[in-house]
Amino acid sequence: MTLIEKLEKGERLSLEDGLALYDLDFFTLGKFANAKRTVLHGRKAFFNVNRHINPTNICKDVCKFCAFSANRKNPNPYMLSHEEILITLENSCKNGITEAHIVSAHNPEMGLEWYVELFTKIKKQFPSLHVKALTAAEIHFLSQLHNLTWDEVIEKMMASGVDSMPGGGAEIFDEDVRAFICKGKVSSDGWLDIHRKWHQRGKQSNATMLFGHIEKREHRIDHMLRLRALQDETGGFNAFIPLVYQRDNNYLHVENFLSSIEVLKTMAISRLVLDNIPHLKAYWATSTINLALVALEFGADDLDGTIEKESIQSAAGAKSGKGMELKTILDLIRNSGFTPVERDSLYNEINVYM
Ligand code: SF4
Repeated sequence: MTLIEKLEKGERLSLEDGLALYDLDFFTLGKFANAKRTVLHGRKAFFNVNRHINPTNICKDVCKFCAFSANRKNPNPYMLSHEEILITLENSCKNGITEAHIVSAHNPEMGLEWYVELFTKIKKQFPSLHVKALTAAEIHFLSQLHNLTWDEVIEKMMASGVDSMPGGGAEIFDEDVRAFICKGKVSSDGWLDIHRKWHQRGKQSNATMLFGHIEKREHRIDHMLRLRALQDETGGFNAFIPLVYQRDNNYLHVENFLSSIEVLKTMAISRLVLDNIPHLKAYWATSTINLALVALEFGADDLDGTIEKESIQSAAGAKSGKGMELKTILDLIRNSGFTPVERDSLYNEINVYM
C-alpha cells in the first residue's frame, strides 16, 4: 500500500511512514492533517484562560537548552513564596482564569512539602480552580530529593489537590540526544512510566516534545511513537504539544533555526501519526502566534491559552512574557476562519464564541 493510500484509508503509520511524510508535498501533507483535525474537531479552535506560575528558577540540573534556570547567562535567581503565588492567583481569578499551570525548576530548597502546602492552600482558597502541576521531571526530582518512590510523590500530589499533570520534561526521548541536552533529568522510560502511573489512577495529562535543536526527524517520529504506544495502553493523554526550541541565552549553540515549513510539517505529521491523542496544541508561546494560527490549518486544534505571564520560553527569546488578552485571542481565531472555543483543562467546552 502506498503512503497516500494509507493516509486515505486512515491506516496507522510507522516510523518509515512518518519520515516519508516529511518528503510529501507540503500542501498535500497539510490537506491530510487538516482532514483529520476536521473529523475530530471541525473548525473549532480551543483555548483556555489560564495563568502560568513558575515558583522558582533555581535548579540543580543543567539542561543545555534551558534559558530559564538561574546561571551565569541569567543571573537572576528567585523563589516565590506561597503568599505571593496566592495573591497572583487571586488577581488572575478576577480575570476569569480556570487553570493554574504550575511548573518549576528543580530547587532542593523547595521540597515536596512546600508544594503540598501550596496546592492545599490553593484548593482551599480557590476550590474550583484546576491545578495542573508538577511535570514528570519534577516528580522524579522530588522523589530523589526525599528518597520516595514516584508512586509516593503522586499520592501526595493527588491528596493535596493536583488535578492534572502538565506534559513538560519529555524533551526528546531518544536516549543519545537526551543524554546530550539534558543529562540528569528523568529518563525517557521514567517520564513515560510516571505518566502511566498517573493515568492508571484515572488522571489525565499532556505530552510535549522539544524540537528544532540537535535532534533529527527520526527522533521526532520515534518520540511520537513512544507516546502513541503508551496512549494505546492508558488513554490518559489529552494533548500533544510540540514545543519549538528557543535559541537565546542557553548553552546548546544551535546554528540552524527551524524553518516555519519544518515546524508546520512536524505539526501535521504529529496529527497523523498520533492517531489516538485527541488534541494537538500549537503552543503560541514557542511558535509565535502567527505560526500557531497557520498551524490550525495543519492539524492543530488548540492554542493553549491567555497564559497572563510566562517566564520559561520568554527567557529563551520567545515573545510570550506578557501573555495575551482574551479579546485578542478571540479576534485572532475568528479572523483566521475558526470558531473560538474556551475549554477547561480537560477539554470540556466552557464557551463557544460563535
Ligand atoms: S529545563 Fe528545567 S530541569 Fe532543566 S535546567 Fe531548566 S529548569 Fe532545570
